[in-house]
Amino acid sequence: MTSLVLMGPPGVGKGTQARIISQALGIPAISTGQIFRTNIHSRSELGILAQQYIDRGELVPDSVTNPMVEARLSSPDVKNGFLLDGYPRSVEQAHVLRDILPKYGLELDLVLDITAPSEVLIEHLQKRASEESRSDDRPEVFAHRLEEYHLRTEPIATYYADQDLLETVNGVGTIEEVSARIFAVLHKYGVSSDSIAV
Ligand code: AMP
Repeated sequence: MTSLVLMGPPGVGKGTQARIISQALGIPAISTGQIFRTNIHSRSELGILAQQYIDRGELVPDSVTNPMVEARLSSPDVKNGFLLDGYPRSVEQAHVLRDILPKYGLELDLVLDITAPSEVLIEHLQKRASEESRSDDRPEVFAHRLEEYHLRTEPIATYYADQDLLETVNGVGTIEEVSARIFAVLHKYGVSSDSIAV
């Protein structure tokens, strides 16, 4: 059983790495950002509400996000492990997650923090903006997301480091280089390379 949280600033390549890890380990990747975007596309009530925040580069309120994550973690497919991508994004959410997990017999094994300097994030963003045209990748919104990350999300690194759950991974380099670093860390924690089929 491998239960992971993947954290990192916007533009670090978290989503891409989440997909690679989830495929290699055969565990579902749960991306709160992706769930919001799916709901925005289908114009659900949740999507309409979330969009106002996402378009401004702000966090969607906890009253919406936390129950959505709890509902997802209560599904049977997470029993053999899961990868949370983009949640928790604040110390408050980390506390909520701590309370949710034992309700479903789950426990967190490791938090991977992918880091990169701002210049690299901006470079990635420019590439993604030309490929995907996400409304929250506009330069002014992206700058605000980065600010929110430093202010609200970065403190969870200390929260998890204090519990010996944090591993930092250098996010500078090619997709393959970064995933190789991630798998090296996972290997150290006993996730056997036999189960890794990349
Ligand atoms: P992401 O795809 O992870 O970059 O998330 C895109 C946007 O969705 C973020 O900028 C937030 O507006 C919103 N979002 C994603 N995850 C969360 C979360 N855990 N809490 C609040 N808002 C979130």
